[in-house]
Amino acid sequence: MSPRRVRRLGPYERPGGRGSSRPIEWVAGIDRKEHAPDGEWVVRHVSGATDRVYRCPGCEQEIRPGVPHVVSWPNWPGGAEERRHWHTACWRNRINRGPLRRRY
Ligand SMILES: [Zn+2]
Repeated sequence: MSPRRVRRLGPYERPGGRGSSRPIEWVAGIDRKEHAPDGEWVVRHVSGATDRVYRCPGCEQEIRPGVPHVVSWPNWPGGAEERRHWHTACWRNRINRGPLRRRY
């Protein structure tokens, strides 16, 4: 017997979750909007199923093919042109590091 009325919640989907400090795993293909001190961003979790190597602007390390990560861009017209690939953890820590801290 399987209860059919129970909504399936993933292990990371907790109703009433509070705080943003807890790691959140996102579903691939779902865009999320995030409000940050430096504006509103669209964040997409991608599987990394590509043969391209990206460089994470957070830690300046490579994001190797097959590594799930996030792609983010400013949520304004034309913002998608500025898409950046980030390690998931680096994106989360971005605000802590300071939005103006750029070391390209
Ligand atoms: Zn990184």
